[in-house]
Amino acid sequence: MGKWVVASAWPYINSVPHLGTIIHLLSADVYHRFLSLMGEDVISVSGSDEHGTPIEVEARKRNIDPKILTDEAHKYIVELLRRLDINLSNYSRTESKYHKEFVRSFMLKLEENGYIYTKEQVLPYCTKDGIFLPDRFVEGTCPRCGFPRARGDQCDNCGTLLDPIDLINPRCVFCGTKPVYKETMHWFFDLRKTQDKLEKWLKSNPNLDDRVRKYSLSWIREGLKPRSITRDVKWGIKAPFKNAGDKTIYVWIEALLGYLSASKEVLEKKGRKFEEFWHDPETKTVYFIGKDNIPFHAVILPAMLIASGEPYPLPYSIPSTEYILYEGEKFSKSRRVGLWIDEALELIDNPDYWRYTLIRMRPEERDSNFSWSEFARIINSELNDHIGNLVHRVLSFIKRFFKSRVPEPGKLDSIDEDYWKGINDNYIKYIDKMYSQKLKQASEHILSIARASNAYINRKEPWKQIKENPEDASTTIYLTSNTVALISLMLYPITPRSSKKIWKMLNLDKHYGEIENMRLSKHEAKHLVKPGIEVGEIEVLYRKIPEEFIDNIDRRIKSVREKINSRRPEVLRF
Ligand SMILES: [Zn+2]
Ligand SMILES: [Zn+2]
Repeated sequence: MGKWVVASAWPYINSVPHLGTIIHLLSADVYHRFLSLMGEDVISVSGSDEHGTPIEVEARKRNIDPKILTDEAHKYIVELLRRLDINLSNYSRTESKYHKEFVRSFMLKLEENGYIYTKEQVLPYCTKDGIFLPDRFVEGTCPRCGFPRARGDQCDNCGTLLDPIDLINPRCVFCGTKPVYKETMHWFFDLRKTQDKLEKWLKSNPNLDDRVRKYSLSWIREGLKPRSITRDVKWGIKAPFKNAGDKTIYVWIEALLGYLSASKEVLEKKGRKFEEFWHDPETKTVYFIGKDNIPFHAVILPAMLIASGEPYPLPYSIPSTEYILYEGEKFSKSRRVGLWIDEALELIDNPDYWRYTLIRMRPEERDSNFSWSEFARIINSELNDHIGNLVHRVLSFIKRFFKSRVPEPGKLDSIDEDYWKGINDNYIKYIDKMYSQKLKQASEHILSIARASNAYINRKEPWKQIKENPEDASTTIYLTSNTVALISLMLYPITPRSSKKIWKMLNLDKHYGEIENMRLSKHEAKHLVKPGIEVGEIEVLYRKIPEEFIDNIDRRIKSVREKINSRRPEVLRF
């Protein structure tokens, strides 16, 4: 048994997660559930990233305290995660007391270790608005790729991290005025000193995706630059440095430390120690992020961990995903392209449908596309026809022909042996893919098992066997009821609700306790359903999505969208 910290990027609190951004939180939840089934000691953390300029600007417009805005928004998002059965150990927020204290003492440690220095900086200042412009509020042309609307912190087109001064033709995003440059003192984190250790880690960690490794190494080769870590923004964590006045810590930098502060918060609440996980070099930390977040997680975070001088484990794995498109287009809040989670749950309130579909569409190797026709195909064919149908035909056969009790198997013939060997092979591959965070690829093996099982039943024809040689029918049904139990366990991380239903239908909760407390073997698909177990009430697991629903989906979304938008806290509205 090992210790694991499963993390998902912290969503910024000015919008509701959509189908594309929820994937990281969902993946972390699925992975946490899986690791628990494997008997691992795991905590999972994420939270609301709430500081920084966008919220401050909103609050200034309304003349209220920014925290009033983020309190409401955080509460709303927490409720959405609950409805999606995303149940991380701690979904915290950057306004938490733990986080603020942690960040301030962490920064002082970096300073103590000689990684922080100050520099007079010449920064963009908008004379019209009378404020220093934070990086992302200066727009201009990217010096690397020529993209005309690059932000001062990052180019969305090529992913390069930028400083506003790098931009060609810079302008204030509020008023379009060309900023002037004024002197102000800022504090810098000197990443360069961590370069050797970073490079060694990037080259030697076998669990990093090649894409992550290559990107980060190329960045190091271009030369790491010190990064300024303070801002002239009010809404944030006060910089703890001497003479820092009202300056705050750059929101991107402090949010990264949320993985540690949220761990500390939840571990202490559980009566355990932060050091138990974060001072143990064997602890595996896994970060589910989008590909646009690679630089922060594969360079800046590990650099800070190194610079702290504490024995923090560097990332074990950084599973980054490509983008999900919506009907072939990029998600866009301003153009209303996409589907947001509150709308999704209003259209279809069974979270398993969304969880399963999103894992099946998880963009692990390349961009994927959410389309309503594909959504309907996945629910109707995969969940309903393959999995739901298998569960129903096996259990109803037991009810009808075996007085509701799982029969004693006869002697296995070569077809039976091959069948279970195939199930076992898929099971082992599933475990392997899940451990390596290839959640979509792992789910293929659940589907392969369901398909193989339906084909096996069709071949064995237990409805004939029961008349001709009842012992053979018993074998068929014994093996397939074990397959059903296995499927419920393998599906549990992805679709916890339907898995619990299957578990209960087989009355396995009476024999083994709740499904979430089961422990899976790494090496073998075991027969969990013993002869004599009584099958309970058979419930309908899934319902097909009717054609009519999909045909009228645009009209449905329109009416749901208006209703939902008016219910959202103001800061989350379109
Ligand atoms: Zn660019
Ligand atoms: Zn301006």
